[in-house]
Amino acid sequence: MSAQKIPATLIPGDGIGPEVTAATLEVLVALGAPFEWDTQQAGVAGVQQCGDPLPPQTLASIRKTRLALKGPLATPVGGGFRSSNVRLREEFHLYANLRPARTLVPGGRYEDIDLVLVRENLEGLYVGFEHYVPIGDDPRAVAMASGVNTRAGCTRICEFAFDYALKNARKKVTLVHKANVLKALTGLFLEAGKAVAKKYEGRIACDDRIIDACAMQLVMNPYQFDVIATTNLFGDILSDEIAGLVGGLGMAPAANIGTDAAIFEAVHGSAPDITGKGIANPLALMLSAALMLDHVGLGDKAARMRVAIDKVLREDNIRTGDLGGKANTREFTSAIVKRLG
Ligand code: NAD
Repeated sequence: MSAQKIPATLIPGDGIGPEVTAATLEVLVALGAPFEWDTQQAGVAGVQQCGDPLPPQTLASIRKTRLALKGPLATPVGGGFRSSNVRLREEFHLYANLRPARTLVPGGRYEDIDLVLVRENLEGLYVGFEHYVPIGDDPRAVAMASGVNTRAGCTRICEFAFDYALKNARKKVTLVHKANVLKALTGLFLEAGKAVAKKYEGRIACDDRIIDACAMQLVMNPYQFDVIATTNLFGDILSDEIAGLVGGLGMAPAANIGTDAAIFEAVHGSAPDITGKGIANPLALMLSAALMLDHVGLGDKAARMRVAIDKVLREDNIRTGDLGGKANTREFTSAIVKRLG
């Protein structure tokens, strides 16, 4: 292994995962990104190839590299195995989910959107403390769920958001909560966030919104937001809404960053409806790889990738079907590689 190589785990994933992963690798090679990949499986592919949705060798690989690029993993709805995505976040304490959203294609609903969502990734209602209460002959007469937020977890995610804002020349962090109704669960988040904001006073502004008002205001006037910090479930919902503001799931990247590792992935899922057709938009995973380059200190390569993507979309007018274009995954990827050359 040469000294400059960066060992990293590659999980192609399910559905369109292998298609968008291959496209992303092509662009990374064209950029001369020095990743040395250890390819592993998870999700349905993990079950099929290793009999486990999160095989021990996949976990061992990430434990070693502490860095992974991951395609989408399919999760059965209702019954079946627990989400491998959620398990990965728990296993490696990936407490911060960073989801930047920027307008890439002009002529959409809004121009020049540039927002960042920071979502807490380990607590809240996602802890999965759920059970049914049987009544009479109905075993599922009542469903109950408990959410868990800790002051330490809320403080850590808010510190991540303010620190990110400071390092990335952002001006404001908006704390999003439902402290008027869930007074303890999300009131604690607001309380911890306001305490963190005090430490950044004069450098990063802070305000707060109730989740429902925030969802509406994002549609009415998204420009009032800069960095949004919120709890797990609200962050999950808002990130898809924000992806919608900039042209859909096909363009939304994400980073899961924690104390033990960092895993980069597209926001979208395995898209079973278009799997194998060769028409998936690979941008979300490519932009996730750009976040990975930023993370390992190769921001110059990330910037080159983003410029090439902008040129292909805006000047060459080459786009995949979900963006109103005619290009398939292969043609779109080749156009980006050509721009890099
Ligand atoms: P999805 O994101 O897979 O698909 C929603 C819609 O968006 C579909 O019409 C799909 O064709 C389209 N789409 C998604 N990505 C696209 C792309 N790159 N290019 C073009 N169109 C794209 O959501 P879903 O159908 O609700 O979920 C399918 C599976 O993915 C489920 O098993 C779910 O659990 C899983 N999932 C995984 C992740 C992850 O691994 N991070 C995230 C979300 C969903």
